Amino acid sequence: MARDVGPSCKRCRREGEKLFLKGARCTSPKCAIDRRNQPPGMHGKDARFRRRRESDYSRQLREKQKARRIYGVLERQFRRLFTVALARPGLTGVNLLVLLESRLDNVVFRLGFAESRPQARQLVNHGHFELNGRPTNIASALVKAGDVVAVRPASRRTSFFRGVSQVLDERRVPRWLQLNPAELSGQVLQLPTREDIDVTLNEQLIVEYYSR
Ligand code: SF4
Repeated sequence: MARDVGPSCKRCRREGEKLFLKGARCTSPKCAIDRRNQPPGMHGKDARFRRRRESDYSRQLREKQKARRIYGVLERQFRRLFTVALARPGLTGVNLLVLLESRLDNVVFRLGFAESRPQARQLVNHGHFELNGRPTNIASALVKAGDVVAVRPASRRTSFFRGVSQVLDERRVPRWLQLNPAELSGQVLQLPTREDIDVTLNEQLIVEYYSR
């Protein structure tokens, strides 16, 4: 499946904030935002370019790009999710965030099986997970209330997941999910509300971007 393969830290520097794409490195002194928070490119540190007044369009575009980068979704798929969100009752922006949070790779990350969403996506792509007892390698699969996500029995014996099981107890899981560390599995209790989603996004700007 297509994905953005560019340097992760460059994406954070483009947005001017931490998007937490690299797990432990993001909270270490090696984080590029802590060391050199300037836009990428030869003019990144040039004050003339940073002083420019932001237009409404630029703010809407940046918010949409930030959301795409946080969840690792390419433009076409993101637009498709927006169309689904638009067709659902309620606030389109909130619907969009709920859809993004419902992706299987995000749930794997939220349950603490991976240190970052890109890592969770790779683990799912490599077939280490099952959804409701059936193996799946589709990171974009959308979960619903009652679904059970689990590490596949063969994968539980790998050194990676043996290491994960030792730290699972320390991981904080959002209230819409329930983790079963002993079984290396988790259940979706309900879909998240906006209050449950801790990403710093202004979803209204994304709605405005697609409503132009
Ligand atoms: Fe972003 Fe993490 Fe790189 Fe820091 S270390 S710039 S948060 S991906």
